[in-house]
Amino acid sequence: MTVFVPSPEVLESPRGRDLIGRARPAPRVDALPTHADVVLVGGGLAALGMAATLWHAGVGDIVIVDRGGGIGGRFFRRADILRQRTLRSPYDHHPGVEGYRDCELLDFARLCWSALTPAEKREVRMAQAGHRSVVPLDVFEAYVQHVVAVHGLTDRLWQGEVLELLPGADEVVARTTLGDITASSVVLCTGEERAEWPGPLPDRVHYWDDPAAVVDRPDTAVVVGAGLSGAHIVANCLAAGGRVHWVLRKQAEHYQCADVNASFFRAEGLARFHGTAWEDRLEIMQQQRVASIMFEFRPGLRAAEADRRLIVHRGAEVVALRAGEVNLADGASVTGDRVVLALGTKPNVGSDLLPADVIRLRNGWPDLDEATLAYRAAPRVHALGAAACMVLGPAARNIDGHRVGVSRVAGSLLAQIAAGGKERVRA
Ligand SMILES: Cc1cc2nc3c(=O)[nH]c(=O)nc-3n(C[C@H](O)[C@H](O)[C@H](O)COP(=O)(O)OP(=O)(O)OC[C@H]3O[C@@H](n4cnc5c(N)ncnc54)[C@H](O)[C@@H]3O)c2cc1C
Repeated sequence: MTVFVPSPEVLESPRGRDLIGRARPAPRVDALPTHADVVLVGGGLAALGMAATLWHAGVGDIVIVDRGGGIGGRFFRRADILRQRTLRSPYDHHPGVEGYRDCELLDFARLCWSALTPAEKREVRMAQAGHRSVVPLDVFEAYVQHVVAVHGLTDRLWQGEVLELLPGADEVVARTTLGDITASSVVLCTGEERAEWPGPLPDRVHYWDDPAAVVDRPDTAVVVGAGLSGAHIVANCLAAGGRVHWVLRKQAEHYQCADVNASFFRAEGLARFHGTAWEDRLEIMQQQRVASIMFEFRPGLRAAEADRRLIVHRGAEVVALRAGEVNLADGASVTGDRVVLALGTKPNVGSDLLPADVIRLRNGWPDLDEATLAYRAAPRVHALGAAACMVLGPAARNIDGHRVGVSRVAGSLLAQIAAGGKERVRA
């Protein structure tokens, strides 16, 4: 039997190389247009795939409104706070367009060959041979810029917040911090928010995506959460010469290549999810949303635990927080110079933008049309990304799942634009 031995050094890819020789496109600062064919709410990786697909279909009149910086800005900001230097998903999970043979992520990595480290080159060869491989964040970020540039998206992004959506029969009005914009169709690409502790945080307690959570001094940290974010914070603290108490609710940490079982990215996995009863889907979602850590972390974490730089509290439920302290259900408490909460994320399903009778939440999930991912009660508003998990399965929240979602939404958008009688013009 072949034993898979992961290489921890692939996690140490350098960060900050300029592989594309082009400045990151900045959001526009001029007035938001008052009309567009399509408005994308959020400018993350799901929006990137949607916008690129519309470009291929000849739809240029699109507006992306994002609260943060550039396309994919929140993804890269979060990864950099965690000092995550590689993707978790493999090379074949590329953002982009289904059905068009654009330059894909692996092709692009080969174009960057001379700038890659030996470990990174080995991963490219692994991917070419069809094996699991790890993608450097630098390569991924340069690729995202490439997709933005070749699909004419450099001037489609405005920095602002969408506050409310008013769906009508023939159009949708989006109220934003930059003014109102009316669109033939709207796509929510709003991603996931961090899961929060119920109540205010005491001093010296931070969330994983707060820059204050970065541990770069040899102090003692208490890290709560068994996912990859928690593992990154633990590893960062250990690398800085610190000590860590790691609090896990389960009895054991769970190591897995991707955070969603690979079968859900393939046709047979989608089919297994699709066509099943709502209750069965819920059960699959519960089983699949298990916090997990990339295998590459295991050697370092095991070594640190063996020499007591890392103390792992398994099967420990946090019941209260105090300044620099967590109280556990068994009465024990764990203290440190700081506490970092990595409690996962929860899908943004549109509750803050649309009325409840449009979203029609069922077990926390919106009521979406299976063929178009439009809200059944507002067919001109669609949802991509994690919000579409109960239609597409758990992979909907990952880069490769966005492509599947985009292809369903695209058909609906094109029909709505055509019905509006507008001439489609490529920008
Ligand atoms: C640290 C980390 C690492 C990950 N690594 C991987 C990986 O390796 N592979 C993988 O497949 N997936 C990974 N994921 C999951 C990943 O987040 C998604 O695949 C991808 O980023 C989701 O894209 P998205 O567009 O749905 O959401 P995001 O990338 O989060 O984009 C959503 C955007 O919408 C904006 N927004 C939300 N509401 C509004 C509003 N009302 N008005 C304006 N803007 C708004 C947000 O600010 C954000 O910029 C990772 C997630 C995290 C947190």
